[in-house]
Amino acid sequence: MKKSSGYVSIVGAGPGDPELLTLKALRCIEKADIILYDRLVNEEILRYARPEARRIYCGKAPGVHAMTQQKIQQKLIDYASAGSYVVRLKGGDPFVFGRGGEEALALAKRGIAYEVIPGITSAIGAGSSALIPLTHRGLATSFACITASRKEVDLGQQRIGQLAKQVDTLVIYMGVSHISAIRSELIICGKKTDTPVAIIERGNTSQERVMVTTLEQLEELAKVERIENPALIVIGEVVKVREELLQLRQELPARMEQIG
Ligand code: SAH
Repeated sequence: MKKSSGYVSIVGAGPGDPELLTLKALRCIEKADIILYDRLVNEEILRYARPEARRIYCGKAPGVHAMTQQKIQQKLIDYASAGSYVVRLKGGDPFVFGRGGEEALALAKRGIAYEVIPGITSAIGAGSSALIPLTHRGLATSFACITASRKEVDLGQQRIGQLAKQVDTLVIYMGVSHISAIRSELIICGKKTDTPVAIIERGNTSQERVMVTTLEQLEELAKVERIENPALIVIGEVVKVREELLQLRQELPARMEQIG
């Protein structure tokens, strides 16, 4: 196996707010020769890169791939083999529905040195920002992150149904175009129709929208509000905590910056 002198950091950029980067991620970005970044990465983060660093967009809108996964992997291999320090920057966490595992495998198979830097996954980031704790004493002792992506839709729908019976809070990634199927599957599997549901669109950004409804009304809400990607669907009693916190917070500053 040929050893290369380059190196790849597969880095989580967090869920949207650049301030949610880890210090390690920031150090990687500051040192990079080349940054390959995804659509969900807030481009403001790129200003931390050196002016001469190459920035390569690998954007993937749902259904439209600007660059295939294979091509991205080939670029990582090529740049690192040529001796560059490459940062592969991905939204949220690279190992949560981020295909970071595939990229690590591709690099490892070619003998290219790499590391993985975690990021705050959007379920955690958007949960905080929307004031929805994913676990809460007395309401939820478990949560599951699940995808409803088209590629795995049949399997995905089944798992959602099974999980609904065993896990208190469900966080569904890539669910926007499957809302009708998700709703009916959960109801068929015994989830109560009045179970609270939140949709968090563009969480942790200035355009964040949080909408709360019930499982029964979920499809209706998605239509009326024209929910767009990226959005997460959070299902479970914990959504009620948000309502309580919002009521209690009315008189309080919402952000630390508003103090003084
Ligand atoms: N690796 C990413 C997930 C990539 S899959 C992570 O750890 O968060 C893409 C899906 O993530 C989107 O379809 C959406 O469901 C969710 N997502 C990512 N960023 C989001 C954000 N800022 N707000 C809401 N959902 C988001």
